[in-house]
Amino acid sequence: MTEPTPTLTATTFTGLPGAPGRAEGATCLLRRVQAAVSAVPADARLADAFAAAHRRLADALTTADATLAPLLDAQRLMLDDPELREGIAARVKTGTDPVAAARATAGALAAMLEAAGSDYFRERAIDVRAVGALLAEELAGETPSSRVPAGAVVLAEELAPLDTARLADAGVAAVVTVRGGPTCHAAIIARAWGIPAVVGAPRAILEIPDDTPALVNGDTGVLVLHPAQAAGTSAAPVGRQRAAPLAPRIPLLANVGGVAEAARAVELGAEGIGLLRTEFLFLDRATPPTEDEQFADYTAILRAMAGRPVIIRTLDIGADKPVPFLPMEAEPNPQLGLRGVRLCLRERALFRAQLRALVRAAAVGPLRILLPMVAGADEVRQCRALLAAEAADLGLPAPPLGAMIEVPMAALAAGELAEVCDFFSLGTNDLLQFLLAADREHAGVGYLHAADHPAVWPLVEHVIAAAHAAGIPIGVCGEWGADAAKLARLLALGLDSASVAVAALPRVRGWFA
Ligand code: PEP
Ligand code: MG
Repeated sequence: MTEPTPTLTATTFTGLPGAPGRAEGATCLLRRVQAAVSAVPADARLADAFAAAHRRLADALTTADATLAPLLDAQRLMLDDPELREGIAARVKTGTDPVAAARATAGALAAMLEAAGSDYFRERAIDVRAVGALLAEELAGETPSSRVPAGAVVLAEELAPLDTARLADAGVAAVVTVRGGPTCHAAIIARAWGIPAVVGAPRAILEIPDDTPALVNGDTGVLVLHPAQAAGTSAAPVGRQRAAPLAPRIPLLANVGGVAEAARAVELGAEGIGLLRTEFLFLDRATPPTEDEQFADYTAILRAMAGRPVIIRTLDIGADKPVPFLPMEAEPNPQLGLRGVRLCLRERALFRAQLRALVRAAAVGPLRILLPMVAGADEVRQCRALLAAEAADLGLPAPPLGAMIEVPMAALAAGELAEVCDFFSLGTNDLLQFLLAADREHAGVGYLHAADHPAVWPLVEHVIAAAHAAGIPIGVCGEWGADAAKLARLLALGLDSASVAVAALPRVRGWFA
């Protein structure tokens, strides 16, 4: 008796929007290597694997953009961590297969980091597991990209930054992961590469057989299997979702992390830079960047922008963006701790060097300075006094100074804050995180970010009104700027500009057509 042919019906898995766009393809589970057989002595295999993993990261770094490079660098440092090396060697000595030893050691270290319970350590746990997987692949002599066909919808437990870049190179159609939230590093990199992504999907996706037809909607966070069988909308033809044209027309700016991205932003028609995340320029530095080094970086970006306006944000380090040149004490809640402007006001020498570099660079092109994590007017007053002192010392004018609105207290006190600021920039990523008490990196609470919570809009409306009452402009530089529905609503409230990831520029520009 022959088995009856199973009836294929559309199945929907709901996760969270990771990176926008829709794509269709056959599924392919990103499998990790489980075991290896080799006649080479274990010690030599280990040494070779570490060297090869270093080479692969170094190779990837040669083409990495400003978003990916610091993450790859962090993994390179992790490869040199004695705990990892010695842990693997100890397991191998007791007879464990090297591939399994690499996974087990990395897994144990990752579990310890995850137990620390902060965003920063959760991201590092992903890095450690990624480094373990990289070593395991080298030990087994396999690479996952060779098993991922172009055009595939890749399903994975989680993706390390290197995975995402490698998959982008392999030309995959879309990615769906179990771990990670909408603003996790993998999602940010998928957005930068223009790959639709769904994150925080149910673990059941790991059971989906290879070659199952699938449709990924990164705008809504939905994965549909057998989409041809789906009724109505989910079977709609694939293509970038086109939102209704927005009016009125406002300047469309870019969020960048360095000069290469700035140049790309110009090619894609950006009318300026709404957010240069300066911490991305220095994440991998062992020594603090000097005033002259910073001046060189900022002027290179101003030149790439050829007269277009540039908003440069002062260092937003701490929390999920630590830097090796400024060792910090472990904090129980780093997102709520010494970060952004709070850290700058404590590390005066570092902050003064940045302010001086910015004052000097402002002579080269139209530059405004943006302060991150501002909680109140007093912080802006202190920064303005420091800026004025450095400008006076240099005999140059102080550039305009603005504040990110990303702390609820600052949003609520926007009227008072607007009195001491030259402009506002809405940081919806952090504002939502703090307002909703929902970690932006945590898949389990990402649904709160995805929902339209009634508490959010009145506050945003209040901020925009307060800016305009004080006669200062307000833009958005958080991810809401690249969300058609949210942007339309912000425009209706009178928003003055939108700054979005470089890869989102063509899509957002299309909404203005
Ligand atoms: C934000 O918080 O919305 C923002 C743009 O800043 P970052 O994502 O760098 O925290
Ligand atoms: Mg922020």
